[in-house]
Amino acid sequence: MISKSSFIRGLQCPKSLWLHYNEPDEKCETSESQQQIFDTGHNVGFLAQELFPGGVDASRGDHSLVHEAITYTAELIACGQEVIYEAAFSDGSTLCYMDILVKEDDGWAAYEVKASTKVKDYQVMDVAFQYFVITRSGLPLKRVSLVHLNNQYVRHGELDIKQLFTVAPMTDRILPMQQDIPLLLQPLQEMLEADCMPGIAMGPQCGNPFACDFIDFCRQSCPAVENTVEPRPASRDQDALDEFLDGLEYPLRFMDFETIMFAVPLYDESRPYQQIPFQYSLHVQHTKNGPVEHCEFLGTPPADPRPEFIRSLLASLGEEGSIIVWNQGFENTRLREIARDFSEFAPPIALLFDRVADLMVPFRRKHLYLPEMYGSYSLKAVLPALVSDVSYADLEIQEGGTASITYESLYHDEDVESIRLKRENLLEYCKLDTLGVVKILEKMPAEAGSEPY
Ligand code: SF4
Repeated sequence: MISKSSFIRGLQCPKSLWLHYNEPDEKCETSESQQQIFDTGHNVGFLAQELFPGGVDASRGDHSLVHEAITYTAELIACGQEVIYEAAFSDGSTLCYMDILVKEDDGWAAYEVKASTKVKDYQVMDVAFQYFVITRSGLPLKRVSLVHLNNQYVRHGELDIKQLFTVAPMTDRILPMQQDIPLLLQPLQEMLEADCMPGIAMGPQCGNPFACDFIDFCRQSCPAVENTVEPRPASRDQDALDEFLDGLEYPLRFMDFETIMFAVPLYDESRPYQQIPFQYSLHVQHTKNGPVEHCEFLGTPPADPRPEFIRSLLASLGEEGSIIVWNQGFENTRLREIARDFSEFAPPIALLFDRVADLMVPFRRKHLYLPEMYGSYSLKAVLPALVSDVSYADLEIQEGGTASITYESLYHDEDVESIRLKRENLLEYCKLDTLGVVKILEKMPAEAGSEPY
């Protein structure tokens, strides 16, 4: 039987569906960030059940017991249960679970829950498939909706479940798609019956709408058509670099933030998926070629890190000198959000923006470019191309996503030694980010016409 997730997988790439059924051991291991996405989806789905309280879980918490769930769903419907969670249906060749099924005044309504903040294209197909399976299995549906998070909801005190979610009506969108579902299903079913792996080369489908979990298998077995970055020669525009450097004022402060997002807002004055800054690193250089000092802040879960973060940051930034960041859009947006959510800090935060200088800009504009940057101007590409004595390789945490996951794990960690180690790793990682920017700046003011590094 083709389930909803198999159908969506098959639409993304028939070969992925074939491998899913025939070579499941070839799947890549689930990464920590993927696991976090799955867990988030599960938790949000569970929370959305509170929109329709008093339901019975037809899956009994175990999606592997498909036939039992289908039978139990039928029994619940027959005996007049009006709210059913994880209701299971099959028409013999297809299968789906519906997150929430509700018997309303005029008939059955189905609610599919997503942890996103808007309706995405693939989700429309997802709901269309569920409607197809449920109605073909014999239950008429009056309407079907997609329940997603409302990113305009601001938490104040207890969670307001009705405000947290948006219910998007989908019936009108998915009814016209019903005739297409069998046409899309048939080739997938034939492919599975033919028992022969489709010869599909890697391409844009491998990451859209999901990162395919057979990517390692395909890379090994059919190294193929992947985008290659055009090699580009080194370049240097000394006038443009000088203009940037002349605009900097001492003391220089090199600043970097780390953030964490919660699908369901954890703190007052925060919204779904808002980036909550929990850490900063600041290197300070008072005079040209002078010594560099360092200061930092790291929050302590479960408290909201923002008030202490901004108090500490404002004190460390002083009132004069340039604040150097890599990609000012990120840090500036976080500062604006803190000013919005904690208005007492808005006046001093407003004074910071004119002092911010974005060191990424000269690299984005290719005022300084090396082939070793592989066409990228991210810090992780520029740093190793210019600076040999600063590397992330020996660090436990090597990128922002892992920093965020590590911080999140501190919310549940009770082992003192483990907490100490994680905090040490977080501090080392963020410190290296700003040290890297210090070193990059050191490499920039070469004389015109000389080698830039
Ligand atoms: S890696 Fe790409 S080609 Fe291979 S199965 Fe996945 S989507 Fe298909």
